[in-house]
Amino acid sequence: MINLTDKQCCCGCHACYNCCPQKCISMQSDVEGFWYPVVDLERCTDCGLCEKACPVLCKSTVDNHPLAYACINKDDKIRKQSSSGGVFTVIAESVIANHGVVFGAGFDEEFSVVHSWTDSIDSLGNFRGSKYVQSCIGDTYKQIRDFLKQGRQVLFSGTPCQVAGLRTYLGKDYEALICLDIVCHGVPSPLVWEKYRSKMANNRAFKAISFRDKILGWRKYSISFEFREGEILTELGSENKYVQGFLKNLYLRPSCYNCSFKSINRQSDITLADFWGIENVLPNFDDDRGTSLILVNSGKGDVIFSSQADKVYCEKVNINLALLYNPSAIKSVDYNPKRSLFFKELGSTDISQLVERYTKVSFFRKVYVKGRTMLSRIKRQVIG
Ligand SMILES: Cc1cc2nc3c(=O)[nH]c(=O)nc-3n(C[C@H](O)[C@H](O)[C@H](O)COP(=O)(O)OP(=O)(O)OC[C@H]3O[C@@H](n4cnc5c(N)ncnc54)[C@H](O)[C@@H]3O)c2cc1C
Repeated sequence: MINLTDKQCCCGCHACYNCCPQKCISMQSDVEGFWYPVVDLERCTDCGLCEKACPVLCKSTVDNHPLAYACINKDDKIRKQSSSGGVFTVIAESVIANHGVVFGAGFDEEFSVVHSWTDSIDSLGNFRGSKYVQSCIGDTYKQIRDFLKQGRQVLFSGTPCQVAGLRTYLGKDYEALICLDIVCHGVPSPLVWEKYRSKMANNRAFKAISFRDKILGWRKYSISFEFREGEILTELGSENKYVQGFLKNLYLRPSCYNCSFKSINRQSDITLADFWGIENVLPNFDDDRGTSLILVNSGKGDVIFSSQADKVYCEKVNINLALLYNPSAIKSVDYNPKRSLFFKELGSTDISQLVERYTKVSFFRKVYVKGRTMLSRIKRQVIG
């Protein structure tokens, strides 16, 4: 049975919960707001299926030759609603046109982030756009297996650990299953997100939330909150407390600091990412309205991506050059030494003030960092 001794070893993918024939595993939030499996020992028969479904315990290695592309959806409206070039929607629409089903991360009525499915192109909007919080998988993997058994094509889109969890849960490849993963910085705590959005709501109801509003451009993206009564609050991501805490790794899931799924050789068929550095790699693909970096990881990925060539502007690029600007693809983020103190204080004070306190760069550090940068520049000149 799953016996969790180190939280860094659980990515919260829900594979063990989905596979338990006794239904004796529940996913429960810890004090930081992350889900972990809890086994009802009275009902557990120790069949071992949960361990076999765990993508961290049963890690697969992939031997493939991914190809990298810069890519932009020709549909400007969809691209504007998407985090980068809007390629997720291109693939999702083709699956739905083929009478398939699309699973992705969207908001529920309370604006928590959850995985769900749709087979309607009109409902894809809820999946569009990155949500900077861990999404709850729930019963998704069981639902996917049911659809696959009915013979329907399924597109699953999620983080690399969620794709790995789905694969170990299914235990075999299905021709009709296509997996998309994202290059993932790491996933923030659902509890921190709950506290932040309730502060933003201030007893009002949200109509829409975007973590990647392109109103001031793709590079300098904004976070925006639209309320039912019409007001819209928008703030540059670089100035917003929630985004700052996310980017400074203050409240990511413990497993994200030692992610088992960072690699060029991925378990998904296609990987989606922001093409950071596009201005240096392919300047003619940069209009600051969002360009996707696409890794085509398998033959299946190649078939579906090539079939949509008329819907996108696309150019092949050198994968090593592309990933140079996107270290999150292959390297876990650094642990923030203030993380545990932050969580100890969470709930005791205003969330924005707390994040500000824990992300503020002290005067000493500013001077030190500046000094160090200058020093390394001098060293490079001397060496060079
Ligand atoms: C937490 C997180 C961290 C990321 N970190 C990086 C990074 O470091 N570098 C980088 O290049 N790109 C990162 N991305 C991916 C990037 O922001 C875009 O999602 C990607 O470029 C796809 O954009 P798109 O325009 O094709 O489609 P979009 O319409 O923007 O794609 C949305 C897709 O992302 C999925 N998704 C959204 N939120 C979540 C979530 N919380 N959990 C699982 N799946 C989700 C949806 O299911 C949908 O398939 C991250 C995304 C998330 C959610």
